[in-house]
Order: sequence, then structure tokens, then C-alpha cells
Amino acid sequence: MSLVNLLDFDLDGLAAYCEGLGEKRFRATQLFRWIHQKGAADFGAMTDLAKSLRDKLAGTAEVRPLAVLTEQASADGTIKWLFDVGGGNAVETVFIPEDDRGTLCVSSQAGCAVGCRFCSTGHQGFSRNLTTGEILAQLWFAEHRLRERLNMAPGERVISNVVMMGMGEPLQNYAALVPALKVMLDDHGYGLSRRRVTVSTSGVVPMIDRLRVDCPVALAVSLHAPTDPLRDDLVPLNRKYPLAELLAACRRYLEAAPRDFITFEYCMLDGVNDSDDHARALLALVHGPGEHRLPCKINLIPFNPFPESGLLRSARSRVLAFAKVLQDAGLVTTIRKTRGDDIDAACGQLAGEVQDRTNAAQRRKRVPIPVVAAATQLKPAP
Ligand code: SAH
Ligand code: SF4
Repeated sequence: MSLVNLLDFDLDGLAAYCEGLGEKRFRATQLFRWIHQKGAADFGAMTDLAKSLRDKLAGTAEVRPLAVLTEQASADGTIKWLFDVGGGNAVETVFIPEDDRGTLCVSSQAGCAVGCRFCSTGHQGFSRNLTTGEILAQLWFAEHRLRERLNMAPGERVISNVVMMGMGEPLQNYAALVPALKVMLDDHGYGLSRRRVTVSTSGVVPMIDRLRVDCPVALAVSLHAPTDPLRDDLVPLNRKYPLAELLAACRRYLEAAPRDFITFEYCMLDGVNDSDDHARALLALVHGPGEHRLPCKINLIPFNPFPESGLLRSARSRVLAFAKVLQDAGLVTTIRKTRGDDIDAACGQLAGEVQDRTNAAQRRKRVPIPVVAAATQLKPAP
């Protein structure tokens, strides 16, 4: 009999599970706090938990971690873990420390089915959805591993922000995503505010609408192009949910969103989407006339090249000129700092060891992406 993975449950789910064992909800809350706040996996160590419950859990349930394949630290403090998710698949999780926050970039799928041209994960093809437990195991492990490494005092938190911007399209794994988000937000879990949990999507319109109702958190939309023909080419999902529908969904989302703007991500591709004309088209798209202005911020991402994309990063001067067109028109525009690129941990460089779904001819043309680049390889986690 396989053991029930307690990381698969949000608090309501755990309460229902405990009820099935004849236990009251407050016992589930205690258990939940041991797991997520203290990082405990051993029921025997959960000292204030009734012995009767500990006995029932032993042999039927577990807190199932992901196996760590590698842990790498970048010169800039970014840390990347590669986790084994079985069947030849691996996913990556990245911790990005900044002065005032610690952000964890979490994966939602092994591979991705959307297949954006500029994305290394997309080029790998889709392998499978992660479970809620596998999504949460990334946060659970990173938070408690870092507390230990950084010698944090009891009660101190390392991770203040979570961004669903690792491998995969989170809104194509909706059923597993939502309970995971709820644990991140739960005061008995990680206690993160809705503003500090961000779902990034390439634009799965119906699921943006559902998220608004089920669990509104901060939303980032990967735009990358201001017109449908160009976006059809860069983000193939646009053929199903074109820009007008996507922007309408963003407007609806704002009615429930914890922030009063949507973040649009725009990856700067040399000679593809980075001209002043593209910037003006982008302005026209989000500004519209009068009250139709969509409250948003633009985050320009320097493209992180990988060989098989055939694309190049825009020159710094081009990115600045593009930003200026937007800023001069009053649109808040930032240029993302590239972090962790020496360990292939920057946006779009997360490739994992995903089982190859593409055909052999394509595969032969590939240049493998090194898992360990010019960086320190730390000792594997205990
Ligand atoms: N699937 C979701 C979340 C994961 S991708 C999405 O597409 O939003 C996270 C971000 O990295 C997205 O904005 C994506 O467009 C960007 N990205 C992907 N490949 C990139 C690359 N090679 N260089 C820079 N950014 C990239
Ligand atoms: Fe998937 Fe996002 Fe990469 Fe597109 S950018 S292929 S949606 S992970």
C-alpha cells in the first residue's frame, strides 16, 4: 500500500484526511504547522501531537520530499536545486535573495506543453504535471534547508515571496496548483500575503477567470508581443486565446486581484519584438483610449539565449530605448536584472532533465545544456 503524501493537502484537505482517521480539525492544524512551519517529516518528533494520531499516521502517511540531484550556488547568491521527480524527469527551483526579500521561483510541471520559441523548458516538450505535493515539496525543502544553512533563529522566515515562474505553465496544472497556493497563503502554513505569491502565465484565459474566483494572487502575464501574428509565433497558445481575450481576462482579474495592476512580462528578442514600433504597439494595446487604460506594469526581460532557439538577446541600448518609449508615455516599466545565469538559473534557462518528447532527428541537432556551469557545486543536501 502506498503511503498518503501529506504535502498533497491544503489545510481543509488535511482536516478531511484526519477526520477520516477519527481526529478533530485542531489536530490537523497542529500537524500542518509541524510540517510547513517547522519542516518536520518525522511523526515521532511531533511531540505535542497526540500519541494516538502519531500512531495512526505511522505506516499510512508520510511527508514525501523530492530527491535532490544537485544544489548549485551562483556568485550572486542565487541558489538552484534540481529535483528528481521520477521517470527520468527533473524540475528546477531557484532561490533569489535580495536586500528586502527572498524569492523562490517554483516549477509547476516537468516540461511544458505551450512550446514558446524563446523558452528552454518549452523546447523540452511536456512530460507531466507535478502534484500539489511536488509543487509544495520545493518550497518546503527550500525554506527549511535555507533556514538551516543561514542559521536563522526559530520563527524567522527565509522565503518571503513565491513566483510560479519555474518550469511549466501553472494554469495548465490548475487542480494541483490551487491547493499549493492555499498552503503558501495559510497562516498555519507559510503565511505569505496574496501580494507576495505570483502566478505567471502565458495566457490560459479560462483559468485566469477561475483563479480570480478560487484563489486570487498576484498575476504576471507573459506577453512578449503586442500583436496577434507575432504572438502567435512566439507563444503558440495565443492562437487559442488571442490578445483581445487575454487582455479582457486581465481586466476581469483586476476586480479581485490583491494588487491593482497586472505585470506584463516581455522578453526582449533582438530584431523580433524589440523595435520602437513594437513599443508603440504595446502602448496602444494596454493604454487604449480614456478609461480603457489597463492598469499594468511592464517588466522587460533580457532574453537568456540557448543554442536551439536561434534567437538573440536585444542589445542593452535597444532595451533602454524600448523602455523609454513606454516610460515617456507614463507606463511603469522595469528591466529585470538577470540573476544566476552562471548556473543556468535565469529565466527560461530551466531545462531540467526532462524526458525528451521531440523526435530523434531534432534531438541530434541539439547542443546539450550543461546542468553544472561555471559555478560552485555544493554538497548535496543531507
Ligand atoms: N509558463 C509561465 C511561467 C514560467 S516561464 C509563463 O510563461 O509565464 C517564466 C518567465 O520566463 C516567463 O515570463 C517567460 O516568458 C520567461 N522566459 C522564458 N524563456 C525565457 C528566456 N529564454 N529568456 C528570458 N525569459 C524567458
Ligand atoms: Fe511554457 Fe512559460 Fe516556457 Fe512558454 S515561457 S514554454 S508557457 S514555461
